[in-house]
Amino acid sequence: MSSKQIDKIRNIGIMAHIDAGKTTTTERILYYTGKSHKIGEVHDGTATMDWMIQEQERGITITSAATTCSWNKQTINIIDTPGHVDFTIEVERSLRVLDGAIGVFDAVSGVEPQSETVWAQADKYKVPRLAFVNKMDRMGANYENCISEIREKLDKKAAAVQWPIGSEENFAGVVDLLEMKAIYFPAESLGSKIEIKDIPADIVDECQLYRDELLDNLSEYDEELTDLILMGEAPSVAQIKAALRKATITHNFIPVLCGSAFKNKGIQPLLDAVLDYLPSPTDRGELKGHSLKDPDKVEVRKPEVDEMFSGIAFKIATDPFVGSVTYVRIYSGKLESGQTVYNSLKKKRERVNKIFQMHADKRTELQEAFAGDIVAVAGLKETTTGETLCTENKPIIYDLMEFPETVISVAIEPKTAADEKKLLSTLEQLKNEDPSFTFSNNQETGQLLILGMGELHLEIIADRLQREFNVGIRVGKPQVSYRESISGTASESHTYNRELGGKMQFGSVTLKVEPVDYQAGVLFESSVTSKQIGQNFIDSIK
Ligand code: GDP
Repeated sequence: MSSKQIDKIRNIGIMAHIDAGKTTTTERILYYTGKSHKIGEVHDGTATMDWMIQEQERGITITSAATTCSWNKQTINIIDTPGHVDFTIEVERSLRVLDGAIGVFDAVSGVEPQSETVWAQADKYKVPRLAFVNKMDRMGANYENCISEIREKLDKKAAAVQWPIGSEENFAGVVDLLEMKAIYFPAESLGSKIEIKDIPADIVDECQLYRDELLDNLSEYDEELTDLILMGEAPSVAQIKAALRKATITHNFIPVLCGSAFKNKGIQPLLDAVLDYLPSPTDRGELKGHSLKDPDKVEVRKPEVDEMFSGIAFKIATDPFVGSVTYVRIYSGKLESGQTVYNSLKKKRERVNKIFQMHADKRTELQEAFAGDIVAVAGLKETTTGETLCTENKPIIYDLMEFPETVISVAIEPKTAADEKKLLSTLEQLKNEDPSFTFSNNQETGQLLILGMGELHLEIIADRLQREFNVGIRVGKPQVSYRESISGTASESHTYNRELGGKMQFGSVTLKVEPVDYQAGVLFESSVTSKQIGQNFIDSIK
């Protein structure tokens, strides 16, 4: 594989507030790229990406399932990230290894709280983004409002590259503002065939206006485009695309598109936009890490196949067929089945037994994988989330991911002696998969506590223990946890008394803290250490 082919990979995440339509959008993407032959639907539990029983029953996305598909002879690796606040940490670890993302918004609700949280996380990891305003068919859908909210709340550099043709029940298609053509998605073909026509006469002026606005915004960041416009020349579509790509990758622009995933409208142009505007692994440039021998020395790897191997383990999961797998983003070089790699943090050699390309619940075995790829590796025994894998002769350590402390706990107890035997080892396995989950014995009552990021998070853990691992347990009531010292920025000051309760302030939100529930025999020992967790804390007890 040449570096030219690495240019043809896009590693993207799809992120949004719960219910904005991430899963539906992902399902449509898999359908149009030929990965699934039937469109899966969230409401009847057939969505391909949501394959855990708990996800299908609840209609939510829990794990970041990685899947590979291809569009216009290029490869798109998609990580479906959960929208529920309890699984924010899953989003965080996906963002760590992605090159670009699509933010999905509900055309009626606009920018919702969790969209703001994930957007801020993507800012932290400097992930270039597209915005997709979904649900244009819904009553009350308003594209302009949604763009204004994105600008006000998330990024003022967002601007439309498409304009909707009609809205609500009259939503018919989209206008490509670069080509100035209307795109329709005939219902009979489930949107897999598109029709390109002239823009309806009644919206030509409106579209021209937004096209001018787009060029105006763009020329601020692109000298070539400015020069052309100043000389009175009309830039070609290819020139505008190139300028848009550059501005998006350099965080100077958020292209906004629209559609209705549910009605099969707008997905193919969204895929085109992923290829056109989001970065390939090579666009990320060199990767900086630390030398193992000298932590102050910067080690660098180029995103090339001929470079020394390096990658980050970003997720450990239990696959129903393969067993424990470690998801690895390969940054440089090549990974071969049977190869020994070096975990630079643990200073341990690890053998790569098998390499898989994952498609939700299916998998293809690979003999080798290359810079830019996201794969699942079987056989790694010591490596945990966030650690670097590399060559032993010149080790590199990429920055570790930060995991916040847990905020809620539930007491559990095994039902039988047989359950007791299995319980601790199963909890250990779950903890290994999920760094935002832990368990401990309550020092005062001796009860076994499971601790996590929110009520739903722990409910899922308890459910998995019982159904996936057949460990019978009794589950207590969830309890919000805190400890006496809470660190934070000035805007997160707090005052409360352990016995009497009190108030905590997170930004503009005041949180009332109840005294510890001694009656339940559960004492909580976790902490709230950042604004992010403050928000999780607030949401989890709402
Ligand atoms: P997620 O939580 O962001 O993954 O959202 P889902 O994809 O699960 O969608 C949430 C709900 O919205 C489901 O009932 C979908 O069928 C519905 N939905 C998704 N996209 C659209 C759309 O474009 N239009 C309408 N009307 N409903 C949609």
